[in-house]
Amino acid sequence: MTLHGGCVCGAVRYEAEGLDGPIRHCHCNTCRRVHGAASASGAEVLRERFRWTQGADKLGAYESSPGKFRRFCSVCGTHLVSDRLAAPAVILRVATLEDDPGQVPQFHIWTSQQPHWLTDPPGTPLYDEWEPGH
Ligand SMILES: [Zn+2]
Ligand SMILES: [Zn+2]
Repeated sequence: MTLHGGCVCGAVRYEAEGLDGPIRHCHCNTCRRVHGAASASGAEVLRERFRWTQGADKLGAYESSPGKFRRFCSVCGTHLVSDRLAAPAVILRVATLEDDPGQVPQFHIWTSQQPHWLTDPPGTPLYDEWEPGH
């Protein structure tokens, strides 16, 4: 099944023919900062099974380590893939998918770099929308 996704402003879109690795939440210092979030959820997609379908010319890239490019929409800032040029697969930022990839997250990585104050205490409430009284 072809999976579709893209950035929040709609300028950049992609297709993937499926995920080729487990979904994992990465808590490393770099993912946390570039995504502005406690973790970034990613999964490998083989290069030949991934393509940009719109707005490839709008992509920006940040080389976070030599040969590894974090590609994002230069209009809205949405991060879409991490691309280590020497690797056979890109890491798709799966939270940008519009279609259900048919699997759920398998594990968390790099929790050693997560600040303790950004870790949910047990029993942290989950609200469907805003917290009560918002
Ligand atoms: Zn965008
Ligand atoms: Zn990371």
